[in-house]
Amino acid sequence: MTVKAKKHLGQHFLNDENIAKKIADTLSLNGYKKVLEIGPGMGVLTKYLLEKDTVTYVIEIDSESVDYLKSSYLNLAPRIIEKDFLKYDLKAVFNDEPFAIIGNFPYNISTQIVFKLLEMRNQIPEFSGMFQKEVAQRICSKEGSKVYGILSVLTQAFYDAEYLFTVPASVFNPPPKVESGVLRLIRKQDYTLPCDDALFFKVVKTAFQQRRKTLRNSLKTFNLSDNLKANAIFGKRPEQLCVQEFIELTQEIEKDV
Ligand code: SAH
Repeated sequence: MTVKAKKHLGQHFLNDENIAKKIADTLSLNGYKKVLEIGPGMGVLTKYLLEKDTVTYVIEIDSESVDYLKSSYLNLAPRIIEKDFLKYDLKAVFNDEPFAIIGNFPYNISTQIVFKLLEMRNQIPEFSGMFQKEVAQRICSKEGSKVYGILSVLTQAFYDAEYLFTVPASVFNPPPKVESGVLRLIRKQDYTLPCDDALFFKVVKTAFQQRRKTLRNSLKTFNLSDNLKANAIFGKRPEQLCVQEFIELTQEIEKDV
């Protein structure tokens, strides 16, 4: 018995045991006892997680995959959550306990997965796994790079991001149209921002909505004082600012009256 791949669920099953093991091994297992795998499918990655000294939970939206997992991994059965990761309130399972997230993620919802991670960052010390290569690169890229954007700044404000390795399309069934990339995010020791969180998110998103424009133009809706806008930083474009500069910018905007 195997699961028939469903396109609308972003199902591309990994065929390569070595790569599955290598992804499972990206977890440091430092600072948490529980791991949540998103989208286990037929469990190619799950079986290597189950060998580790950690308690593995999986969340899977596809009932056919869930049936497969239940019959193949009897010990896992009580920790299979048959839900949509994006909609499910994980507090119901983990309360306030920390847990790591791992997966060969469904690529059709990559960005939403990262945003949910950021919302739950207080509970998630580590996050690793596979995305479409461009998305993994974007999350890890630094200022000055063409792919540096909202996902890069917001993620790196809280996590150290490392692009680990590239995976070719040929090791999936069915093969996706793009290459894949594995990354690891480790939450910073001090991940509280010295500025207002909500304002920081708003500044970053607004600035990158018009990435070719200077901040003086793209941040017009904030009605900033001429005094603040005279600051040299406002002559820059968003892709030129590192995370720390976005934080300082938010602090200045907070003070501006
Ligand atoms: N990890 C498996 C499957 C990867 S394909 C492997 O490497 O072979 C992506 C998986 O994510 C599929 O099993 C799909 O059913 C599941 N999935 C898609 N959307 C989901 C969602 N919103 N919540 C949980 N699982 C989801």
